[in-house]
Amino acid sequence: MIESKKVQKMLYGGDYNPEQWPEEIWEEDMRLFHKAHIDVVTLNVFSWAALQPDESTYDFSKLDKIMKLVKDNGLKVCMATSTAAHPAWMARKYPDVLRVEHNGMKRKFGARHNSCPNSPNYRKYSAALVEKIAERYYEIPKDQRNGKCQITASSSFFIPKPFTPFQWAPMNTEREFLDKAAIVKAEVRAQLNQKSIRYIYHEADISLLEGFLARGDRKCAEVIEKAYRKGAIFDAWSEYFRKDAWEEAFAETGIDVSFYACRERSTDEILPWDFLDIGVTKKFLIREWERAQKETVTPNCKMQCSGCGAKSFGGGVCYENQN
Ligand code: SF4
Repeated sequence: MIESKKVQKMLYGGDYNPEQWPEEIWEEDMRLFHKAHIDVVTLNVFSWAALQPDESTYDFSKLDKIMKLVKDNGLKVCMATSTAAHPAWMARKYPDVLRVEHNGMKRKFGARHNSCPNSPNYRKYSAALVEKIAERYYEIPKDQRNGKCQITASSSFFIPKPFTPFQWAPMNTEREFLDKAAIVKAEVRAQLNQKSIRYIYHEADISLLEGFLARGDRKCAEVIEKAYRKGAIFDAWSEYFRKDAWEEAFAETGIDVSFYACRERSTDEILPWDFLDIGVTKKFLIREWERAQKETVTPNCKMQCSGCGAKSFGGGVCYENQN
């Protein structure tokens, strides 16, 4: 981490969770940090249960002590949000905060990174906690701050994928993607704190290629083989992306990338992947595609089953709940 223009130094450190062991050890931690030339610590990664013992109580006393300790010892702080592990009371009261596995099994409380990011309760309580942390610890007067707050905003371009309601949707062209990114960039530049904001976006040409590969049919195999023989490999990593190889392959095969990526398909077109049965029915996907175009929100499965067809495999949380 380069701290600022004034201090051109690579900071050295990592996660520090002293709330998980007795306070008598903390001074020894500091001694060892100095010995190891550690100068930054990431605090508050898994402290949610301690910071919020119940729904309406917040307790920052321990974190205050830790902050004082590390500051007194000249360490810099990278403040985490604590939302990587929700408290037990939350899982009991709002079970929707628990993650569901890819096979439909609901996780039980008790591990890190166990929260469902789509849960309205998880979002509500994490946002409230983060606000409290920011209010409490970002009150350092400007002249006493070490370095500035840097925000990185990033975006990816939308790539319609098979077996989703957007499998019929047209993808933007490379030009349209770049124009949209330019609009966001201009908005960022118009902000008063624009120097503190960095905006990055995914490469438009690689996104377009991904869109072509996602919804291609057997004819696309020839393009892939030609591009490979011309040296294209590991294309998802931009430093390896050989645009020239792909352009030549498209030109030699006469295949038009936009036919596969940027064309809106009609719902009665036979799609290359239609012969695969993933449980979710095409009828449901068409319904969702039509609803999406009308900007109609489909209720979350936890609120109401929309009959997608996934439970036809006889397993998973929705099947178990309904049988
Ligand atoms: S069958 Fe119903 S509850 Fe299950 S995943 Fe589909 S819409 Fe959700």
